[in-house]
Amino acid sequence: MMMLHIDIEKKLGNFSLQVKTDIAGERTGIFGESGSGKSTLVHLISGLIEPDKGEIMLDGEYLFSSRKKINMAAERRRIAIVFQQAMLFPHMDVKANLMYGYKRCRPENRLIKAEALVDLLQLQPLLGRGVENLSGGEKQRVALGRAVLANPRLLLMDEPLSALDDALRFQIIPYLRSVGEKFGIPYLFISHSLTEMQLMTDHILEIKNGRSLDGTTPEQLARKRMAQSPNGYLNLLRLSSPRHEHGLLAYQWGKNSLLVSAGEPAEESLFELSSREIILFKKHPEAISARNLLECTVTEMFESDSRIGIVLSVNGEKLVAEIVRSASEELNITPGSTLFAAIKASSFRVLA
Ligand code: ADP
Ligand code: MG
Repeated sequence: MMMLHIDIEKKLGNFSLQVKTDIAGERTGIFGESGSGKSTLVHLISGLIEPDKGEIMLDGEYLFSSRKKINMAAERRRIAIVFQQAMLFPHMDVKANLMYGYKRCRPENRLIKAEALVDLLQLQPLLGRGVENLSGGEKQRVALGRAVLANPRLLLMDEPLSALDDALRFQIIPYLRSVGEKFGIPYLFISHSLTEMQLMTDHILEIKNGRSLDGTTPEQLARKRMAQSPNGYLNLLRLSSPRHEHGLLAYQWGKNSLLVSAGEPAEESLFELSSREIILFKKHPEAISARNLLECTVTEMFESDSRIGIVLSVNGEKLVAEIVRSASEELNITPGSTLFAAIKASSFRVLA
């Protein structure tokens, strides 16, 4: 398992970064508002800038130590970065861009081969092309390929999706995940999007005003932020095998069927559903306009400011709804309660 120990300080103009943390795991997120210091941290880990003091250790090896006067050169750290802007070499074609890091990596470290990666990222049709006329998403796939082919010990992805539109962002996420899974490269995924965190990471380091907070998980963070966030808690649902039904699409969601009005039918699609779009009933309502009425069991409840999050099991599938405290008291909702959840077909937003 990848182990990264960070205990550093860095001043840049009026901004000061002070991060002390231990990261263990293959899929870690660095989450924080714009300007909180995420990119600065990425630059410090990769060796693009030098801390004022402290130490950085990767898998037991010092990358930096002010006490021991160690500052390993960036190219020797074997840490690759994918940036928000792909930053490909404009004078090289796609293939030359891809092979750039591979050629510079020591032969004994060349475990990931170009053929396997080109397959995985579906880059074959692009290989002979120049990089100027690639689309934004294609550029990002090439940049990812170049980073992975450098056979790094650690991959840093600094908001790799932020410059892309929504549809493209969610098409690229499976590629980003698969390089970690198929090639076993641990990564730090940096973003200010909680949805991206939920899809890409298991653990999160949160940065606020240049300071690191206690470690958390995407689930804990989503719960904590439910009340303040304009869309509440965003449920991510993978729905499959749609059939046309009365002008809507009937998808399978585990053992359940859901009627949805958005999206083009595809074998599997990813949807988001806000906790605020779910209406809970204590008894079965006789006649309602919402197209989905699901019988469910309360498995857990949590607080987020004045709101109560209700974690529901719908035939084994998880859903989080949100109500105000007075409603939870009036309906006498407790773990174990049976409820009916009503959801309009138009409440589902398709992501990919
Ligand atoms: P994030 O990636 O989380 O958006 P950054 O790490 O890019 O944040 O920046 C954190 C803060 O540091 C910002 O306020 C930014 O203006 C400041 N900053 C970054 N680089 C420099 C620099 N070279 N000189 C002065 N201030 C800087
Ligand atoms: Mg940044």
